[in-house]
Amino acid sequence: NTFQDLGLNSDLLQAITDLGFKTPSEVQEKAIPTLLSEERDLVALAQTGTGKTAAFGFPMLQKINIDSRTTQGLILSPTRELCLQITNELKLYGKYCNGLNVVAIYGGASINEQAKEIKKGAQIVVATPGRMKDMIGRKMVDISKIEYAVLDEADEMLNMGFYEDITDILSHTPKDKSTWLFSATMPKEVATIAKKFMHNPIEVTV
Ligand code: AMP
Repeated sequence: NTFQDLGLNSDLLQAITDLGFKTPSEVQEKAIPTLLSEERDLVALAQTGTGKTAAFGFPMLQKINIDSRTTQGLILSPTRELCLQITNELKLYGKYCNGLNVVAIYGGASINEQAKEIKKGAQIVVATPGRMKDMIGRKMVDISKIEYAVLDEADEMLNMGFYEDITDILSHTPKDKSTWLFSATMPKEVATIAKKFMHNPIEVTV
């Protein structure tokens, strides 16, 4: 299989060529076509290093409206490092998506600087749960119109005690969005969150 077979557009295919990715990884092959063609929730059991960032990143980049500056995609991740890593990957994947703005928000850095970046209009926000909740409370970020929410490393986020924050954040998002959950393991806490926030998800295991 090739990336072209998965249904990705030419802007993304060009970036993929530049990056030197030759063939889709297993999680990409299983997740990308369905996420592109259906507005479905997804639960993916996938470790780091399997290419999961691109598995949710490519479909999100293809489905959002880049001509609009409304925040349409939200990605929650457990740590500042992962948050920055995802942001960098998305910028590389979206290098030919003209007008794309991906903003990272995380603790331990100036909240006002991050608010300033958000204000410029970010189609995609990548955030750690604590800082995200804080910024929602201060009305520095509006996620009331998002269409896609990703819970990345869900098991890690729950291990770190982010259950309440995640619940609070998701309560500020539209009911009819699609939610894509990625986790290396499926303890009952993750299954509970999937059951509570997701509807009839596609299940992918790699
Ligand atoms: P991740 O699991 O998302 O952390 O990705 C692990 C690494 O693999 C990242 O550095 C990606 O840039 C890279 N990668 C993702 N998909 C592919 C692919 N299909 N072919 C080669 N490398 C990839």
